[in-house]
Amino acid sequence: MRIAIAGGGPGGLYLAARVRHLIADSEVTVWERNHPGDTFGFGVVFSQAALNGIREADPELHEDLAAHFVHWPDIAVHYRDEIVTSSGHGFAAIGRKELLGLLRERCRKAGASVLFGAQAPPLDRLVAEFDLVVCADGAHSQTRARHREVFGTELDPRTSRYIWLATDKPFDALTFLIAETPYGPLHGHAYPFDTGRSTFIAEADERTWRAAGFPSGDEAPPTADGSDRWAIGRLEEIFSAALQGHRLRGNRSRWRRFTVVRNRKWWHENVVLLGDAAHTTHFSVGSGTKLALEDALSLATCLQQCGSVPEALALYEAERRPAVAATQRAAQVSLEWFEDIGRVIGLSPSRFALELLTRSGRLTYSDLTAAAHTSNSDCQTEIK
Ligand SMILES: Cc1cc2nc3c(=O)[nH]c(=O)nc-3n(C[C@H](O)[C@H](O)[C@H](O)COP(=O)(O)OP(=O)(O)OC[C@H]3O[C@@H](n4cnc5c(N)ncnc54)[C@H](O)[C@@H]3O)c2cc1C
Repeated sequence: MRIAIAGGGPGGLYLAARVRHLIADSEVTVWERNHPGDTFGFGVVFSQAALNGIREADPELHEDLAAHFVHWPDIAVHYRDEIVTSSGHGFAAIGRKELLGLLRERCRKAGASVLFGAQAPPLDRLVAEFDLVVCADGAHSQTRARHREVFGTELDPRTSRYIWLATDKPFDALTFLIAETPYGPLHGHAYPFDTGRSTFIAEADERTWRAAGFPSGDEAPPTADGSDRWAIGRLEEIFSAALQGHRLRGNRSRWRRFTVVRNRKWWHENVVLLGDAAHTTHFSVGSGTKLALEDALSLATCLQQCGSVPEALALYEAERRPAVAATQRAAQVSLEWFEDIGRVIGLSPSRFALELLTRSGRLTYSDLTAAAHTSNSDCQTEIK
């Protein structure tokens, strides 16, 4: 079986390695427009449940990842000079660069061919030359666009703006930082991803973002790596209390709008969607990479087990759609909660934290009470 994969992100690379591992006579080619080591973003976080799933399905990948993971048990909400901490959860994170490096190495060992600095050829050519074409080229997939009608692609660009940064402050929890400014509330999502470095994503609703005067798109002066210099400087000031003198760093980091991607159908003839090309989930629930890896695991297994490509693609979609739909529902509630954060500004710190942590229904009050406490330098209060 000859398989073409457009896009060498986590989904495309893992599918390539997995297919080669399971199907000895397969021939797999991945086109990735970036060069190895050039990627956007910083760390990606996985919940303990996501890690358990990966360990069960692919212990070897889990072992590779485990050697790079940073682990922690807590979620912390910084709000109005108080830190509300909820313990006993279990998270792990890894740098996106490290994750892609591990997956590239697995492709090399498995004998999949990965072409870097290479735009995927036009879809019609791939369709004619390969038994299966996988669109794994992300949320703004060009290969998917060719069959937009057939896939029933729905793109919903949200109005809030976010920017994906890192900091050399070693946060020790999945941390939500709320900054009340004269323009409105901004929030940060931070978590460690290796020793001494943390992801830091800042987000603001459109009104606050505009009132704060952030230059949009490419208007802002760039740093050496092409990041928005003005945003980095302003966010260092806005979040100075939490950053405690540490700097924010970019990696081609610019303000963007998150786009929710949904497709009514995930495959057509010998073309199939995978990962963000098929579905996106807001970063506040930290699940997109996990879903892309799970899609790859499922599709590779279906291809191995089924007698024909259409049968495999139908089984893949049937297997994956319910889990993806459940996560997308939770992610939608979560993104809307953050878009409308002004509604809960003014609650007491413990009440605010409770609302934030239970916003999507994935955590309930009883999940939280066991080990929850609030703290600042002097105060210890139970969440009630
Ligand atoms: C701010 C932010 C934070 C996030 N944090 C987390 C997190 O903590 N945990 C988590 O699980 N997920 C997180 N995600 C989601 C995660 O990044 C994505 O869900 C995941 O990367 C999807 O993987 P993918 O392989 O489907 O697509 P992508 O990672 O987007 O990879 C697609 C690849 O295709 C390549 N490509 C595109 N077009 C072409 C073309 N025409 N030819 C060749 N190559 C092409 C791109 O260069 C890219 O490498 C976050 C996302 C954002 C925006």
